[in-house]
Amino acid sequence: MARIAMTTPLVEMDGDEMTRIIWQMIKDDLLLPYIDLKTEYYDLGLENRDRTDDAVTVESAEATRRLGVAVKCATITPNAARVEEYGLKQMWKSPNGTIRAMLDGTVFRTPIIVRGIEPVVTSWKKPITIARHAYGDVYRNTEMRIDRPGKVELVYTAEDGTEQRELIHQFTEPGIVQGTHNLDSSIESFARSCFDYALSTKQDLWFATKDTISKTYDHRFKDIFADTYENEYRSRFEEAGIEYFYTLIDDAVARVVKAEGGFIWACKNYDGDVMSDMLSSAFGSLAMMTSVLVAPDGTREYEAAHGTVQRHYYKHLKGESTSTNSVATIFAWTGALRKRGELDQLPDLVDFANRLEQATRKTIESGRMTGDLARITTLPNPTTLDTEGFILAIRDTLETGVE
Ligand code: NAP
Ligand code: MG
Repeated sequence: MARIAMTTPLVEMDGDEMTRIIWQMIKDDLLLPYIDLKTEYYDLGLENRDRTDDAVTVESAEATRRLGVAVKCATITPNAARVEEYGLKQMWKSPNGTIRAMLDGTVFRTPIIVRGIEPVVTSWKKPITIARHAYGDVYRNTEMRIDRPGKVELVYTAEDGTEQRELIHQFTEPGIVQGTHNLDSSIESFARSCFDYALSTKQDLWFATKDTISKTYDHRFKDIFADTYENEYRSRFEEAGIEYFYTLIDDAVARVVKAEGGFIWACKNYDGDVMSDMLSSAFGSLAMMTSVLVAPDGTREYEAAHGTVQRHYYKHLKGESTSTNSVATIFAWTGALRKRGELDQLPDLVDFANRLEQATRKTIESGRMTGDLARITTLPNPTTLDTEGFILAIRDTLETGVE
């Protein structure tokens, strides 16, 4: 059978540890037999980042900007232990942080839903995608401990020297104080990424802050979303039959828990940090969570939400059998291949991506899965497969037909 042709290469960012092992298996067993795979390969494995003084990460982000679609394997973010383990020249920054800063993107995380892995919230029937603003607020704060009575003020000094002051608090006893900021341009990029992603996935968009209490700060977020929607997106949303709405964060939380799913929930930085961990746990497993970085110009980088699964890798190195879940990494590839297929008008590539996702779901629903899922499934008598055994079972499902 002829393999499916591609026109534009994907940017392929290889990574570390167990996910690097899975990466090769997915290519060998699930992609190369069917696709004449074209990629521009960047090795973001820690050794090569160290060898190139991290230039490879920057080059891979530049390639993503040029080619439009990337797929990334999980990578180690070095800490002191990793510097020692790998004998690194320095504690290189998180590749994800570097890539996100260069592409100015927003990260969308979506759980993969299969029968047999049931969300703890019984009303959820469809995935809920969370979009987290990745700039400012408490993540770039300035804090002070106030240890005796005194006055704390916000002081803004304009470039011409004029001052504006607001009293924060007249302290009569010890306490604490914190300053945070954000930027219109960053909030606008965030809003556009969310509106574009809602359009491309044909899902409603929810956005929530606490503007009743934060009448200037959070209100600015609400206004920028509202203005961007009215000026640039309303007609396209109406045409697509989807909705944008704003509500208070506490109301949003209550509604999310009673909802069916099938929408995008845009969150400020802190809310997104907290809520994404809540959602991924409540949907079942971190190993079933996909992640895509969407830049304001539409550039995309697809990956799994989980890390390099270090504990499994050390077992693998000792020659022990592992049962690592490859689903989120497979869906990173299918997401990227589908997007590439849509951009280059290659219906066969889009169809293959859809069939591979179907085959993956169907394999799990038939009771064949990795250990992490076997432990939580509601299916009776699941079969636990090892890492490659699961990937080969998906190959088998793909070969015998997914319809
Ligand atoms: P992790 O790789 O996400 O794994 C944490 C634990 O979650 C695993 O030990 C495993 O539990 C379970 N798990 C995660 N993914 C799984 C999968 N696909 N299949 C089965 N079980 C899975 O986090 P970590 O071990 O804390 O971090 C390892 C490295 O990943 C770190 O160096 C960190 O910097 C990096 N990291 C990278 C990214 C990224 O590139 N996007 C994101 C997060 C972390 P059991 O051990 O109980 O089986
Ligand atoms: Mg968190």
